[in-house]
Amino acid sequence: MNLGERKYKRYSTIGYCIYCGVSANEKKLGDEHIFPLALCGNLVFLDASCRCCAEHINKNFEGPLLRKTFGILRSRLKTWTRHPKERINTFVCEFVDDCGKSIQVTLPVSEYPLFIMPYTRDPPALLQGKSGSPMPPLSQVRFREITPGALPKLKGGKFFQIWVVGQLQLEMAKIAHGYAVAEGRMSGFDALLPPLILGQDPYISDYVGGTEMTAKEFSERFKTGSNFNEIRLMTLFFKDEEFLIALVQIFAILDAPVFQVVIGRRRISASAYTG
Ligand SMILES: [Zn+2]
Repeated sequence: MNLGERKYKRYSTIGYCIYCGVSANEKKLGDEHIFPLALCGNLVFLDASCRCCAEHINKNFEGPLLRKTFGILRSRLKTWTRHPKERINTFVCEFVDDCGKSIQVTLPVSEYPLFIMPYTRDPPALLQGKSGSPMPPLSQVRFREITPGALPKLKGGKFFQIWVVGQLQLEMAKIAHGYAVAEGRMSGFDALLPPLILGQDPYISDYVGGTEMTAKEFSERFKTGSNFNEIRLMTLFFKDEEFLIALVQIFAILDAPVFQVVIGRRRISASAYTG
């Protein structure tokens, strides 16, 4: 599997933290990887976040997601890492033997199945005329073997992996917001995601959901290449309101599902009425 060259595209700073808005004159800002480096993210937004926001993101969702949820998968795919010595070499799975007894086995990471992540086709609640939708509960993983893993050998085998879906949704929100700001696409839109990313708005499913589009349809319609991750921005009208949307696909290289994220709502300016 080709993870691509470690070659970055860099976006210049906008002079303030893209999450809390603090100015570079007041606080030192640091670079943001729009997709995490650990997921082979090669888009770097220079001086884009203050330390407080970066720490909040890392502690509350990005860190646990990358280390726990994606840890084995990242080792299996050998994604980029700042800490190669911390790569996981083995994983534990449970299966039922011929006598119906449940036993645990430790297997090398090379036997770990490549899989798609838990996922809903429900679009963000805002695009269904609803709001006030909290985080969904934990979810189970649906497996799909792409390369031969341990599953065929372990008859009745079960892998236990818990996905904290809210962490995944928050990461999607972070990626979508950072990309839209970096690409200069927020002009004329009110940013909806910073309160969510900073833990001040609990209604994550209002903004982050799925799409009817399959991975194949996404790649055909938007001519995506063979990148590890993909993102596309578009605007969409719902009930006379215009929204800025991102379609985000992490693990695009595995044809993982596409998420839909509502980033901004068109600002109605006075001049729109005076025409
Ligand atoms: Zn900040």
